[in-house]
Amino acid sequence: MSENKELPPESFPCNQCHAGILQPRYVTYFTWLGNELITVPYFPAWVCDVCGRREYDEQAIQWLNMLLDPNAGKPTKANRRTQPPTRPHSSAPRPHLDS
Ligand SMILES: [Zn+2]
Repeated sequence: MSENKELPPESFPCNQCHAGILQPRYVTYFTWLGNELITVPYFPAWVCDVCGRREYDEQAIQWLNMLLDPNAGKPTKANRRTQPPTRPHSSAPRPHLDS
């Protein structure tokens, strides 16, 4: 029962084949954004060295979703438009075009 403690903290036993070990890898992640297929190279994932199962890093997924979702993480700034104070543009020299 103590064999699993030999694993480095960066590796997890595969819960699909129960034989391999999920190892950190960088893969190309594919996801759909609406009708567009997005590919993200060098995406952090865990890949089983036996069955090839991929587990994506959950935090990386959330981070990616925040990047891809235009509505995510957008603060509601309804009254953000602050009007500039009334400008005293009285003595602005204007070029006169006299013909
Ligand atoms: Zn596996």
